[in-house]
Amino acid sequence: MIEINGLSKSFGSLEVLRGIDLEVARGEVVCVIGPSGSGKSTLLRCVNLLEEPTGGKVVVDGTDLTDPDTDLDGARRHIGMVFQQFNLFAHLHVLDNLTVAQRKVLGRDKATAEKIARENLERVGLSEKADAMPAQLSGGQQQRVAIARALSMNPKVMLFDEPTSALDPELVGDVLGVMRQLADEGMTMLVVTHEMQFARDVADRVLFMDGGGIIEQGPPAEVIGAPKEERTRTFLARVL
Ligand code: ATP
Ligand code: MG
Repeated sequence: MIEINGLSKSFGSLEVLRGIDLEVARGEVVCVIGPSGSGKSTLLRCVNLLEEPTGGKVVVDGTDLTDPDTDLDGARRHIGMVFQQFNLFAHLHVLDNLTVAQRKVLGRDKATAEKIARENLERVGLSEKADAMPAQLSGGQQQRVAIARALSMNPKVMLFDEPTSALDPELVGDVLGVMRQLADEGMTMLVVTHEMQFARDVADRVLFMDGGGIIEQGPPAEVIGAPKEERTRTFLARVL
């Protein structure tokens, strides 16, 4: 579903990604861990070309996003992204937050967009909040709305960049619960997270990144439970 070959990214003279090769299969859940500044967010942002790679190839569901002839907006429709900051439209009700892109980007009519929006609010456990304003919701509820908004576009892949790190601890569980459910439903997911328990339980594979490269990867029981690389051990000793 995602094929990344020789992906590199520099900001000026700063080399942030150094030749990343990564394949994510359909239905696979891959968690990315690693220290601050190791390039995790940049990797994610290169997958939907929010950041333009300096080199290498990114193919999602058969479409080469790094091909200059590719219709990027068209390709991005299939890639949902959820950030640490929820980025909801503050002046729009929850329901409208979920329908705007469906109508503008996918051309769905109002009734269809609202039906799909309500289904996805139900999916994240927030059916009763359709008419609320974002400011009336807790951080965890806002993040679940952001997930429902992404799902309303029928993505083939979901990218999550530390979706729970801006939340109060007691709100983290609800958001992880929704992500767990998505994984169970077979969604292809690439998740940057510091939630090691989530990675252990839900990930099919864990990647440890450091210095712009993948240092180690494998099943969570190996990478988190019995890391081979010294750098992975040092990182885990700090976060576990
Ligand atoms: P964190 O865990 O803190 O979120 P990260 O692993 O997500 O870290 P990135 O955000 O990918 O790290 O950043 C990797 C490196 O690239 C950092 O040194 C960062 O300062 C640099 N960087 C990221 N975006 C830009 C940018 N737009 N311009 C210049 N440098 C950038
Ligand atoms: Mg980051």
